Amino acid sequence: MEFVDTALSVCVLESAAAYHDASQRLYGARQSSPKRARNIATGVHYGAEAIHSRLRYFGGSTNHWGGYCTPLTPHDLAPRDWIPDSGWPIGWDELSRYYPRAQTLCEAGPFIYDESLWQGLGIDQHTFYPARLVNRFYQFSPPTRFGDRYGGVLRKARNVEVIFNANATNIGLAGNARTANSITIKSFSGKRAAVRARHFIVATGGIENARLLLASDDVAKTGVGNSRDLVGRYFMDHLYDTVGSLLVSERPARLMAQYAQIVPKTPTHPLSNSVNPVPFQAALTASEQAQRQNRAGGAAIFLRGDWVTTDDGIRAVYEALDANEEDRTAERGSDLLDILTNLDSALPEIKNVIQGKPPEHLPTLFCIAEQVPNASSRIMLDTARDALGERRALLDWRLSDQDRRTFAQMPALLAAEFGRLGIGRVFTSPWLDEEAMYLYRDDFSRILEPGRHHSGTTRMASASSRGVVNTDCRLFDVENISIAGSSVFPTIGYANPTLTILALSLRLADHLKQKLG
Ligand SMILES: Cc1cc2nc3c(=O)[nH]c(=O)nc-3n(C[C@H](O)[C@H](O)[C@H](O)COP(=O)(O)OP(=O)(O)OC[C@H]3O[C@@H](n4cnc5c(N)ncnc54)[C@H](O)[C@@H]3O)c2cc1C
Repeated sequence: MEFVDTALSVCVLESAAAYHDASQRLYGARQSSPKRARNIATGVHYGAEAIHSRLRYFGGSTNHWGGYCTPLTPHDLAPRDWIPDSGWPIGWDELSRYYPRAQTLCEAGPFIYDESLWQGLGIDQHTFYPARLVNRFYQFSPPTRFGDRYGGVLRKARNVEVIFNANATNIGLAGNARTANSITIKSFSGKRAAVRARHFIVATGGIENARLLLASDDVAKTGVGNSRDLVGRYFMDHLYDTVGSLLVSERPARLMAQYAQIVPKTPTHPLSNSVNPVPFQAALTASEQAQRQNRAGGAAIFLRGDWVTTDDGIRAVYEALDANEEDRTAERGSDLLDILTNLDSALPEIKNVIQGKPPEHLPTLFCIAEQVPNASSRIMLDTARDALGERRALLDWRLSDQDRRTFAQMPALLAAEFGRLGIGRVFTSPWLDEEAMYLYRDDFSRILEPGRHHSGTTRMASASSRGVVNTDCRLFDVENISIAGSSVFPTIGYANPTLTILALSLRLADHLKQKLG
Protein backbone atom coordinates (compact mmCIF):
# COMPACT_ATOMS: atom_id res chain seq x y z
CA MET A 1 0.00 0.00 0.00
CA GLU A 2 2.84 2.39 0.84
CA PHE A 3 4.30 2.01 -2.66
CA VAL A 4 1.05 2.63 -4.56
CA ASP A 5 1.42 5.55 -7.00
CA THR A 6 5.10 6.01 -6.32
CA ALA A 7 7.76 5.97 -9.03
CA LEU A 8 8.73 2.43 -8.04
CA SER A 9 7.49 -0.68 -9.84
CA VAL A 10 6.33 -3.31 -7.41
CA CYS A 11 5.52 -6.98 -7.90
CA VAL A 12 3.72 -8.92 -5.13
CA LEU A 13 4.19 -12.70 -5.27
CA GLU A 14 1.36 -14.45 -3.45
CA SER A 15 0.68 -18.13 -3.01
CA ALA A 16 -3.09 -18.02 -3.56
CA ALA A 17 -5.86 -15.51 -4.26
CA ALA A 18 -8.31 -17.24 -1.91
CA TYR A 19 -8.24 -20.19 0.48
CA HIS A 20 -6.95 -23.23 -1.37
CA ASP A 21 -6.26 -26.58 0.26
CA ALA A 22 -3.23 -27.37 -1.83
CA SER A 23 -1.63 -24.05 -0.96
CA GLN A 24 -2.45 -24.40 2.74
CA ARG A 25 -0.84 -27.85 2.83
CA LEU A 26 2.50 -26.29 1.81
CA TYR A 27 2.59 -25.04 5.42
CA GLY A 28 2.66 -28.62 6.73
CA ALA A 29 5.61 -29.08 9.09
CA ARG A 30 6.85 -31.37 11.81
CA GLN A 31 7.15 -30.21 15.40
CA SER A 32 9.82 -32.23 17.17
CA SER A 33 9.24 -30.56 20.55
CA PRO A 34 6.29 -31.79 22.66
CA LYS A 35 2.87 -30.39 21.88
CA ARG A 36 0.03 -29.86 24.20
CA ALA A 37 -2.48 -32.68 23.80
CA ARG A 38 -5.63 -30.94 24.80
CA ASN A 39 -8.68 -32.29 23.13
CA ILE A 40 -8.92 -35.95 24.08
CA ALA A 41 -12.12 -36.43 22.06
CA THR A 42 -10.71 -35.30 18.73
CA GLY A 43 -7.08 -36.06 19.42
CA VAL A 44 -6.17 -32.58 18.22
CA HIS A 45 -2.71 -31.56 19.31
CA TYR A 46 -2.17 -27.87 19.72
CA GLY A 47 1.15 -27.34 18.04
CA ALA A 48 2.73 -24.19 16.71
CA GLU A 49 2.91 -25.29 13.04
CA ALA A 50 1.82 -22.85 10.35
CA ILE A 51 -0.64 -25.30 8.78
CA HIS A 52 -2.87 -25.01 11.85
CA SER A 53 -2.33 -21.33 12.53
CA ARG A 54 -1.50 -19.42 9.35
CA LEU A 55 -3.62 -18.88 6.25
CA ARG A 56 -1.69 -19.11 3.04
CA TYR A 57 -3.61 -16.78 0.76
CA PHE A 58 -3.99 -13.07 -0.02
CA GLY A 59 -4.23 -11.17 3.27
CA GLY A 60 -2.43 -14.02 5.06
CA SER A 61 -3.38 -14.76 8.65
CA THR A 62 -5.24 -11.47 9.00
CA ASN A 63 -8.01 -13.55 7.37
CA HIS A 64 -8.54 -15.08 10.81
CA TRP A 65 -6.84 -12.79 13.30
CA GLY A 66 -8.73 -11.59 16.39
CA GLY A 67 -7.98 -7.88 16.00
CA TYR A 68 -6.22 -7.39 19.39
CA CYS A 69 -3.93 -4.37 19.02
CA THR A 70 -1.44 -3.13 21.59
CA PRO A 71 2.07 -1.70 21.25
CA LEU A 72 5.26 -3.00 22.80
CA THR A 73 6.44 -0.88 25.72
CA PRO A 74 9.84 0.85 26.16
CA HIS A 75 10.61 -1.81 28.78
CA ASP A 76 9.90 -4.61 26.26
CA LEU A 77 12.52 -3.13 23.93
CA ALA A 78 15.16 -2.34 26.56
CA PRO A 79 18.05 -4.66 27.44
CA ARG A 80 17.14 -6.55 30.64
CA ASP A 81 20.22 -7.86 32.43
CA TRP A 82 18.31 -10.93 33.67
CA ILE A 83 17.22 -11.95 30.14
CA PRO A 84 20.06 -13.05 27.85
CA ASP A 85 19.91 -11.64 24.30
CA SER A 86 17.25 -9.08 25.27
CA GLY A 87 17.27 -5.51 23.96
CA TRP A 88 16.25 -4.14 20.58
CA PRO A 89 18.84 -2.24 18.55
CA ILE A 90 16.25 0.50 17.89
CA GLY A 91 14.61 2.47 20.68
CA TRP A 92 10.94 2.89 21.46
CA ASP A 93 10.95 6.49 20.19
CA GLU A 94 11.96 5.24 16.78
CA LEU A 95 9.40 2.40 16.68
CA SER A 96 6.52 4.35 18.21
CA ARG A 97 6.65 7.00 15.45
CA TYR A 98 5.02 4.39 13.21
CA TYR A 99 2.32 3.09 15.55
CA PRO A 100 -0.25 5.84 14.73
CA ARG A 101 -0.13 4.94 11.01
CA ALA A 102 -0.33 1.25 11.91
CA GLN A 103 -3.47 2.01 13.94
CA THR A 104 -5.05 3.56 10.86
CA LEU A 105 -4.28 0.52 8.71
CA CYS A 106 -5.88 -1.72 11.36
CA GLU A 107 -8.90 0.58 11.48
CA ALA A 108 -8.39 1.00 15.21
CA GLY A 109 -8.62 4.33 17.07
CA PRO A 110 -6.03 7.00 17.84
CA PHE A 111 -2.77 5.80 19.39
CA ILE A 112 -3.95 5.98 23.00
CA TYR A 113 -3.15 3.10 25.34
CA ASP A 114 -3.43 4.46 28.86
CA GLU A 115 -5.90 4.99 31.68
CA SER A 116 -7.35 8.05 30.00
CA LEU A 117 -9.42 5.50 28.02
CA TRP A 118 -11.46 4.87 31.18
CA GLN A 119 -12.20 8.56 31.72
CA GLY A 120 -15.80 9.67 31.47
CA LEU A 121 -17.14 6.12 31.33
CA GLY A 122 -18.10 5.86 35.00
CA ILE A 123 -15.61 3.04 35.66
CA ASP A 124 -15.20 2.53 39.39
CA GLN A 125 -11.49 1.74 39.40
CA HIS A 126 -9.44 -0.38 41.76
CA THR A 127 -5.99 1.12 42.15
CA PHE A 128 -3.28 -1.49 42.19
CA TYR A 129 0.14 -0.95 43.71
CA PRO A 130 2.19 0.01 40.60
CA ALA A 131 5.30 -1.80 41.79
CA ARG A 132 3.26 -5.01 41.39
CA LEU A 133 0.56 -4.64 38.75
CA VAL A 134 0.21 -2.21 35.87
CA ASN A 135 -2.82 -1.69 33.62
CA ARG A 136 -2.20 -2.16 29.91
CA PHE A 137 -4.76 -1.52 27.22
CA TYR A 138 -5.83 -3.22 24.01
CA GLN A 139 -7.84 -1.71 21.18
CA PHE A 140 -9.75 -3.94 18.78
CA SER A 141 -9.50 -3.79 15.02
CA PRO A 142 -12.90 -4.76 13.40
CA PRO A 143 -10.77 -7.08 12.66
CA THR A 144 -9.50 -5.79 9.32
CA ARG A 145 -9.01 -8.54 6.74
CA PHE A 146 -6.11 -6.98 4.88
CA GLY A 147 -6.66 -8.81 1.57
CA ASP A 148 -10.33 -7.82 1.37
CA ARG A 149 -9.77 -4.30 2.65
CA TYR A 150 -6.72 -3.28 0.62
CA GLY A 151 -6.54 -5.87 -2.19
CA GLY A 152 -8.67 -3.77 -4.58
CA VAL A 153 -6.31 -0.79 -4.31
CA LEU A 154 -3.29 -2.99 -4.99
CA ARG A 155 -4.91 -4.70 -7.96
CA LYS A 156 -5.86 -1.37 -9.54
CA ALA A 157 -2.57 0.44 -8.87
CA ARG A 158 -0.74 1.21 -12.12
CA ASN A 159 2.69 0.53 -10.58
CA VAL A 160 1.81 -2.66 -8.68
CA GLU A 161 1.36 -6.15 -10.09
CA VAL A 162 -0.02 -8.92 -7.89
CA ILE A 163 0.75 -12.43 -9.13
CA PHE A 164 -1.20 -15.31 -7.60
CA ASN A 165 -0.28 -18.99 -7.61
CA ALA A 166 3.29 -17.73 -7.29
CA ASN A 167 4.95 -19.79 -4.58
CA ALA A 168 8.42 -18.46 -3.78
CA THR A 169 10.73 -21.45 -3.47
CA ASN A 170 14.24 -20.10 -3.85
CA ILE A 171 16.16 -16.85 -3.62
CA GLY A 172 18.79 -16.74 -6.36
CA LEU A 173 22.03 -15.14 -5.25
CA ALA A 174 24.81 -13.80 -7.47
CA GLY A 175 28.09 -15.73 -7.36
CA ASN A 176 29.52 -13.40 -4.68
CA ALA A 177 26.51 -14.25 -2.43
CA ARG A 178 26.22 -10.54 -1.56
CA THR A 179 23.32 -9.68 -3.89
CA ALA A 180 20.11 -11.42 -4.88
CA ASN A 181 19.20 -11.58 -8.57
CA SER A 182 15.86 -13.32 -8.59
CA ILE A 183 13.20 -15.28 -6.77
CA THR A 184 12.07 -18.60 -8.21
CA ILE A 185 8.32 -19.09 -8.18
CA LYS A 186 6.40 -22.30 -8.80
CA SER A 187 2.72 -22.79 -9.59
CA PHE A 188 0.59 -25.83 -8.79
CA SER A 189 0.32 -26.70 -12.46
CA GLY A 190 4.10 -27.13 -12.63
CA LYS A 191 5.02 -23.75 -14.13
CA ARG A 192 8.21 -22.20 -12.94
CA ALA A 193 9.65 -18.69 -13.40
CA ALA A 194 12.32 -16.38 -12.05
CA VAL A 195 11.27 -12.89 -10.99
CA ARG A 196 14.02 -10.29 -11.09
CA ALA A 197 14.13 -7.07 -9.09
CA ARG A 198 16.49 -4.45 -7.67
CA HIS A 199 15.33 -5.15 -4.17
CA PHE A 200 13.43 -8.02 -2.51
CA ILE A 201 11.24 -8.07 0.60
CA VAL A 202 10.63 -11.45 2.19
CA ALA A 203 7.32 -11.34 4.10
CA THR A 204 6.04 -14.91 4.28
CA GLY A 205 5.47 -15.22 8.06
CA GLY A 206 7.60 -16.01 11.12
CA ILE A 207 8.25 -19.66 10.27
CA GLU A 208 8.26 -19.41 6.49
CA ASN A 209 10.70 -16.47 6.33
CA ALA A 210 13.32 -18.71 7.93
CA ARG A 211 12.28 -21.70 5.83
CA LEU A 212 12.70 -19.79 2.53
CA LEU A 213 16.11 -18.39 3.51
CA LEU A 214 17.37 -21.78 4.70
CA ALA A 215 16.01 -23.60 1.63
CA SER A 216 17.84 -21.21 -0.73
CA ASP A 217 21.18 -22.97 -0.34
CA ASP A 218 22.42 -23.39 -3.91
CA VAL A 219 24.96 -20.53 -3.71
CA ALA A 220 25.34 -19.88 0.04
CA LYS A 221 25.54 -23.46 1.30
CA THR A 222 24.02 -22.78 4.73
CA GLY A 223 21.19 -20.72 3.23
CA VAL A 224 20.69 -17.04 2.45
CA GLY A 225 21.64 -14.67 5.28
CA ASN A 226 22.83 -17.56 7.41
CA SER A 227 26.61 -17.24 7.45
CA ARG A 228 26.55 -17.24 11.28
CA ASP A 229 24.00 -20.02 11.75
CA LEU A 230 21.40 -17.63 13.18
CA VAL A 231 18.54 -17.99 10.67
CA GLY A 232 15.73 -19.98 12.31
CA ARG A 233 17.17 -19.68 15.81
CA TYR A 234 15.47 -17.75 18.64
CA PHE A 235 12.05 -19.03 17.55
CA MET A 236 9.62 -17.52 20.06
CA ASP A 237 5.91 -17.60 20.60
CA HIS A 238 3.55 -16.25 23.19
CA LEU A 239 2.52 -18.68 25.90
CA TYR A 240 -1.16 -19.00 26.68
CA ASP A 241 -2.80 -20.56 29.70
CA THR A 242 -5.04 -20.08 32.69
CA VAL A 243 -2.89 -19.44 35.75
CA GLY A 244 -5.69 -19.62 38.28
CA SER A 245 -9.07 -18.38 39.28
CA LEU A 246 -10.41 -15.74 41.60
CA LEU A 247 -12.16 -16.86 44.79
CA VAL A 248 -14.60 -14.24 46.00
CA SER A 249 -17.29 -14.04 48.61
CA GLU A 250 -19.39 -11.69 46.51
CA ARG A 251 -19.74 -11.28 42.78
CA PRO A 252 -16.77 -9.12 41.73
CA ALA A 253 -18.91 -7.01 39.41
CA ARG A 254 -16.81 -3.88 39.96
CA LEU A 255 -13.56 -5.64 39.07
CA MET A 256 -15.07 -7.45 36.09
CA ALA A 257 -16.54 -4.18 34.76
CA GLN A 258 -13.12 -2.54 34.95
CA TYR A 259 -11.46 -5.33 32.95
CA ALA A 260 -14.30 -6.15 30.54
CA GLN A 261 -14.26 -5.21 26.89
CA ILE A 262 -15.85 -1.75 26.62
CA VAL A 263 -17.48 -0.16 23.58
CA PRO A 264 -17.26 3.58 24.33
CA LYS A 265 -20.40 5.41 23.29
CA THR A 266 -19.80 8.75 25.06
CA PRO A 267 -19.36 11.26 22.19
CA THR A 268 -16.30 12.87 23.78
CA HIS A 269 -14.44 9.58 24.22
CA PRO A 270 -11.40 9.38 21.88
CA LEU A 271 -12.45 5.93 20.60
CA SER A 272 -16.09 6.81 19.96
CA ASN A 273 -15.36 9.51 17.42
CA SER A 274 -16.51 7.50 14.47
CA VAL A 275 -19.59 5.71 13.21
CA ASN A 276 -18.17 2.52 14.64
CA PRO A 277 -16.69 3.04 18.10
CA VAL A 278 -13.48 1.11 18.69
CA PRO A 279 -13.82 -1.34 21.60
CA PHE A 280 -11.00 -1.50 24.13
CA GLN A 281 -10.06 -3.63 27.12
CA ALA A 282 -7.56 -3.48 29.96
CA ALA A 283 -5.38 -6.30 31.23
CA LEU A 284 -3.27 -6.55 34.39
CA THR A 285 0.44 -6.94 33.75
CA ALA A 286 3.51 -7.62 35.87
CA SER A 287 5.28 -4.33 36.63
CA GLU A 288 8.84 -3.77 35.48
CA GLN A 289 10.00 -4.02 39.12
CA ALA A 290 8.22 -7.35 39.54
CA GLN A 291 9.76 -8.72 36.35
CA ARG A 292 13.20 -7.67 37.51
CA GLN A 293 12.67 -9.08 40.99
CA ASN A 294 11.39 -12.39 39.64
CA ARG A 295 14.00 -12.48 36.88
CA ALA A 296 11.11 -13.12 34.54
CA GLY A 297 9.58 -11.84 31.29
CA GLY A 298 6.39 -9.84 30.83
CA ALA A 299 2.89 -11.24 31.18
CA ALA A 300 -0.68 -9.94 30.91
CA ILE A 301 -3.75 -11.28 32.70
CA PHE A 302 -7.23 -11.12 31.20
CA LEU A 303 -10.10 -11.64 33.64
CA ARG A 304 -12.59 -14.02 32.14
CA GLY A 305 -15.90 -14.99 33.58
CA ASP A 306 -19.55 -14.67 32.88
CA TRP A 307 -21.55 -13.68 35.91
CA VAL A 308 -24.76 -12.88 34.19
CA THR A 309 -25.51 -15.96 32.14
CA THR A 310 -24.47 -19.27 33.60
CA ASP A 311 -24.26 -22.21 31.22
CA ASP A 312 -27.00 -24.79 30.66
CA GLY A 313 -25.44 -27.24 33.13
CA ILE A 314 -25.44 -24.77 36.03
CA ARG A 315 -28.98 -23.63 35.23
CA ALA A 316 -30.16 -27.25 35.05
CA VAL A 317 -28.63 -28.08 38.46
CA TYR A 318 -30.79 -25.45 40.13
CA GLU A 319 -33.90 -26.29 38.17
CA ALA A 320 -33.57 -30.05 38.65
CA LEU A 321 -33.02 -29.66 42.40
CA ASP A 322 -35.93 -27.32 42.86
CA ALA A 323 -38.33 -29.54 44.86
CA ASN A 324 -41.09 -26.94 44.73
CA GLU A 325 -41.61 -27.28 41.04
CA GLU A 326 -43.47 -30.59 40.90
CA ASP A 327 -45.09 -29.79 37.57
CA ARG A 328 -41.67 -29.78 35.91
CA THR A 329 -41.34 -33.58 36.01
CA ALA A 330 -41.39 -33.76 32.22
CA GLU A 331 -38.42 -31.42 31.97
CA ARG A 332 -36.26 -33.35 34.44
CA GLY A 333 -34.88 -35.59 31.65
CA SER A 334 -33.73 -32.61 29.68
CA ASP A 335 -32.18 -31.06 32.84
CA LEU A 336 -30.30 -34.28 33.48
CA LEU A 337 -28.99 -34.27 29.92
CA ASP A 338 -27.83 -30.65 30.30
CA ILE A 339 -26.02 -31.57 33.53
CA LEU A 340 -24.33 -34.58 31.92
CA THR A 341 -23.21 -32.63 28.88
CA ASN A 342 -21.86 -29.78 31.04
CA LEU A 343 -20.32 -31.85 33.83
CA ASP A 344 -17.26 -29.55 34.15
CA SER A 345 -19.36 -26.65 35.36
CA ALA A 346 -22.29 -28.59 36.81
CA LEU A 347 -20.32 -30.71 39.30
CA PRO A 348 -18.87 -27.82 41.35
CA GLU A 349 -22.37 -26.32 41.49
CA ILE A 350 -23.84 -29.61 42.77
CA LYS A 351 -21.13 -29.60 45.45
CA ASN A 352 -22.08 -26.02 46.38
CA VAL A 353 -25.71 -26.99 46.71
CA ILE A 354 -24.91 -30.05 48.87
CA GLN A 355 -22.63 -27.96 51.09
CA GLY A 356 -25.22 -25.21 51.33
CA LYS A 357 -22.99 -22.64 49.68
CA PRO A 358 -24.23 -19.87 47.41
CA PRO A 359 -23.82 -20.37 43.67
CA GLU A 360 -20.28 -19.80 42.63
CA HIS A 361 -18.82 -19.43 39.20
CA LEU A 362 -15.21 -18.38 39.34
CA PRO A 363 -13.66 -15.77 37.09
CA THR A 364 -10.51 -17.22 35.56
CA LEU A 365 -7.14 -15.56 35.20
CA PHE A 366 -6.03 -16.07 31.61
CA CYS A 367 -2.40 -15.27 30.94
CA ILE A 368 -0.50 -14.28 27.81
CA ALA A 369 3.18 -14.52 28.60
CA GLU A 370 6.41 -13.58 26.90
CA GLN A 371 8.80 -16.31 25.82
CA VAL A 372 12.36 -15.12 26.31
CA PRO A 373 14.96 -15.45 23.52
CA ASN A 374 16.51 -18.89 23.35
CA ALA A 375 19.03 -19.79 20.64
CA SER A 376 18.22 -23.50 20.85
CA SER A 377 14.52 -22.92 20.07
CA ARG A 378 14.57 -23.05 16.30
CA ILE A 379 13.12 -23.63 12.85
CA MET A 380 15.10 -26.00 10.65
CA LEU A 381 14.48 -27.85 7.40
CA ASP A 382 13.04 -31.35 7.51
CA THR A 383 13.93 -34.11 5.09
CA ALA A 384 10.25 -34.46 4.13
CA ARG A 385 9.16 -32.39 1.11
CA ASP A 386 5.96 -30.58 0.16
CA ALA A 387 3.95 -30.95 -3.07
CA LEU A 388 6.26 -28.48 -4.84
CA GLY A 389 9.30 -30.55 -3.87
CA GLU A 390 10.51 -28.13 -1.19
CA ARG A 391 11.81 -29.21 2.21
CA ARG A 392 9.23 -28.72 4.92
CA ALA A 393 9.85 -26.77 8.13
CA LEU A 394 10.91 -28.62 11.28
CA LEU A 395 10.01 -26.88 14.55
CA ASP A 396 12.00 -27.40 17.70
CA TRP A 397 10.16 -25.03 20.03
CA ARG A 398 12.04 -24.90 23.34
CA LEU A 399 10.91 -23.20 26.50
CA SER A 400 13.11 -22.40 29.47
CA ASP A 401 12.87 -22.21 33.23
CA GLN A 402 12.66 -18.44 32.86
CA ASP A 403 9.43 -18.89 30.86
CA ARG A 404 8.02 -20.94 33.74
CA ARG A 405 8.95 -18.13 36.15
CA THR A 406 7.17 -15.62 33.90
CA PHE A 407 3.89 -17.51 34.40
CA ALA A 408 4.53 -18.36 38.04
CA GLN A 409 5.01 -14.71 39.07
CA MET A 410 1.44 -13.81 38.09
CA PRO A 411 -0.72 -15.66 40.68
CA ALA A 412 1.54 -14.36 43.46
CA LEU A 413 1.30 -10.75 42.26
CA LEU A 414 -2.47 -10.98 41.83
CA ALA A 415 -2.93 -12.69 45.20
CA ALA A 416 -0.96 -9.95 46.96
CA GLU A 417 -2.99 -7.16 45.36
CA PHE A 418 -6.43 -8.80 45.37
CA GLY A 419 -5.85 -9.63 49.02
CA ARG A 420 -4.64 -6.12 49.92
CA LEU A 421 -7.68 -4.53 48.28
CA GLY A 422 -10.07 -7.10 49.75
CA ILE A 423 -11.25 -8.25 46.32
CA GLY A 424 -10.78 -11.94 46.95
CA ARG A 425 -8.26 -14.75 46.98
CA VAL A 426 -6.41 -16.41 44.14
CA PHE A 427 -6.53 -20.12 43.49
CA THR A 428 -3.38 -21.04 41.54
CA SER A 429 -3.78 -23.60 38.75
CA PRO A 430 -2.29 -26.93 39.85
CA TRP A 431 -0.08 -27.03 36.74
CA LEU A 432 1.98 -24.18 38.22
CA ASP A 433 2.88 -25.91 41.46
CA GLU A 434 6.48 -26.87 42.03
CA GLU A 435 5.96 -30.63 41.69
CA ALA A 436 4.06 -30.38 38.42
CA MET A 437 6.67 -27.99 37.11
CA TYR A 438 9.45 -30.37 38.07
CA LEU A 439 7.66 -33.17 36.25
CA TYR A 440 7.33 -31.11 33.09
CA ARG A 441 10.65 -29.29 33.31
CA ASP A 442 11.98 -30.82 30.08
CA ASP A 443 8.82 -30.55 28.05
CA PHE A 444 7.05 -27.49 29.34
CA SER A 445 5.42 -26.90 25.94
CA ARG A 446 3.30 -30.02 26.53
CA ILE A 447 1.24 -28.31 29.20
CA LEU A 448 0.44 -24.97 27.65
CA GLU A 449 -0.70 -23.57 24.40
CA PRO A 450 1.29 -21.54 21.88
CA GLY A 451 -0.12 -18.13 20.96
CA ARG A 452 0.87 -18.86 17.34
CA HIS A 453 2.68 -15.54 17.05
CA HIS A 454 5.78 -16.98 15.39
CA SER A 455 8.71 -14.64 15.96
CA GLY A 456 12.44 -14.14 16.27
CA THR A 457 13.77 -16.39 13.49
CA THR A 458 15.56 -13.57 11.59
CA ARG A 459 16.22 -11.32 14.55
CA MET A 460 17.25 -7.69 14.26
CA ALA A 461 20.59 -6.71 15.77
CA SER A 462 23.15 -3.95 15.69
CA ALA A 463 25.95 -6.37 14.75
CA SER A 464 26.00 -9.34 12.39
CA SER A 465 27.41 -11.56 15.15
CA ARG A 466 24.11 -11.19 17.03
CA GLY A 467 21.41 -11.21 14.40
CA VAL A 468 20.25 -11.78 10.85
CA VAL A 469 18.99 -8.31 9.86
CA ASN A 470 20.32 -4.84 10.63
CA THR A 471 18.30 -1.95 12.05
CA ASP A 472 16.85 -1.29 8.56
CA CYS A 473 15.52 -4.89 8.51
CA ARG A 474 18.02 -5.73 5.73
CA LEU A 475 19.99 -8.97 5.78
CA PHE A 476 23.52 -8.39 7.05
CA ASP A 477 24.79 -10.85 4.41
CA VAL A 478 22.89 -9.64 1.33
CA GLU A 479 22.61 -6.03 0.17
CA ASN A 480 19.19 -6.15 -1.45
CA ILE A 481 16.96 -8.37 0.71
CA SER A 482 14.79 -6.96 3.51
CA ILE A 483 12.62 -8.94 5.89
CA ALA A 484 9.14 -7.92 7.10
CA GLY A 485 7.23 -9.63 9.89
CA SER A 486 7.66 -10.72 13.49
CA SER A 487 10.66 -12.87 12.53
CA VAL A 488 12.74 -9.70 13.02
CA PHE A 489 11.60 -9.17 16.64
CA PRO A 490 14.56 -9.68 19.02
CA THR A 491 12.11 -10.01 21.96
CA ILE A 492 8.32 -10.22 21.89
CA GLY A 493 6.96 -8.83 25.17
CA TYR A 494 3.40 -10.04 25.76
CA ALA A 495 1.82 -7.80 23.09
CA ASN A 496 0.00 -9.39 20.17
CA PRO A 497 2.37 -8.81 17.28
CA THR A 498 0.44 -7.44 14.30
CA LEU A 499 0.45 -3.74 15.25
CA THR A 500 4.24 -3.89 15.70
CA ILE A 501 4.65 -5.87 12.44
CA LEU A 502 2.78 -3.07 10.68
CA ALA A 503 4.78 -0.32 12.40
CA LEU A 504 8.06 -1.95 11.34
CA SER A 505 6.74 -2.54 7.81
CA LEU A 506 5.78 1.13 7.48
CA ARG A 507 9.24 2.07 8.69
CA LEU A 508 10.79 -0.28 6.14
CA ALA A 509 8.63 1.17 3.35
CA ASP A 510 9.75 4.72 4.22
CA HIS A 511 13.35 3.58 4.22
CA LEU A 512 13.09 1.81 0.86
CA LYS A 513 11.22 4.68 -0.79
CA GLN A 514 14.07 6.95 0.20
CA LYS A 515 16.77 4.50 -0.83
CA LEU A 516 15.30 3.31 -4.13
CA GLY A 517 13.00 6.16 -5.14
C1 LIG B 1 -6.05 -17.62 15.41
C2 LIG B 1 -5.14 -16.43 15.39
C3 LIG B 1 -5.56 -15.22 15.91
C4 LIG B 1 -4.70 -14.12 15.91
N1 LIG B 1 -5.13 -12.96 16.46
C5 LIG B 1 -4.29 -11.92 16.55
C6 LIG B 1 -4.68 -10.72 17.20
O1 LIG B 1 -5.80 -10.61 17.71
N2 LIG B 1 -3.80 -9.69 17.25
C7 LIG B 1 -2.56 -9.77 16.70
O2 LIG B 1 -1.79 -8.81 16.80
N3 LIG B 1 -2.16 -10.90 16.07
C8 LIG B 1 -2.99 -11.97 15.98
N4 LIG B 1 -2.58 -13.11 15.36
C9 LIG B 1 -1.28 -13.13 14.68
C10 LIG B 1 -1.40 -12.53 13.26
O3 LIG B 1 -2.27 -13.31 12.50
C11 LIG B 1 0.00 -12.47 12.65
O4 LIG B 1 0.82 -11.70 13.49
C12 LIG B 1 0.05 -11.82 11.29
O5 LIG B 1 -0.94 -12.30 10.44
C13 LIG B 1 1.41 -12.09 10.69
O6 LIG B 1 1.49 -11.37 9.50
P1 LIG B 1 2.57 -11.74 8.40
O7 LIG B 1 2.24 -10.91 7.22
O8 LIG B 1 3.94 -11.67 8.95
O9 LIG B 1 2.33 -13.29 8.06
P2 LIG B 1 1.04 -13.98 7.40
O10 LIG B 1 -0.20 -13.29 7.85
O11 LIG B 1 1.19 -15.43 7.71
O12 LIG B 1 1.21 -13.71 5.86
C14 LIG B 1 2.15 -14.37 5.05
C15 LIG B 1 1.75 -14.19 3.58
O13 LIG B 1 2.74 -14.77 2.77
C16 LIG B 1 2.14 -15.69 1.84
N5 LIG B 1 3.15 -16.73 1.63
C17 LIG B 1 3.70 -17.55 2.56
N6 LIG B 1 4.66 -18.31 2.00
C18 LIG B 1 4.73 -17.95 0.70
C19 LIG B 1 5.56 -18.36 -0.38
N7 LIG B 1 6.54 -19.25 -0.24
N8 LIG B 1 5.35 -17.79 -1.60
C20 LIG B 1 4.38 -16.84 -1.78
N9 LIG B 1 3.57 -16.42 -0.78
C21 LIG B 1 3.76 -16.96 0.44
C22 LIG B 1 0.89 -16.16 2.52
O14 LIG B 1 -0.04 -16.63 1.58
C23 LIG B 1 0.44 -14.90 3.24
O15 LIG B 1 -0.30 -14.06 2.39
C24 LIG B 1 -3.40 -14.23 15.36
C25 LIG B 1 -2.97 -15.45 14.84
C26 LIG B 1 -3.81 -16.56 14.88
C27 LIG B 1 -3.30 -17.86 14.37
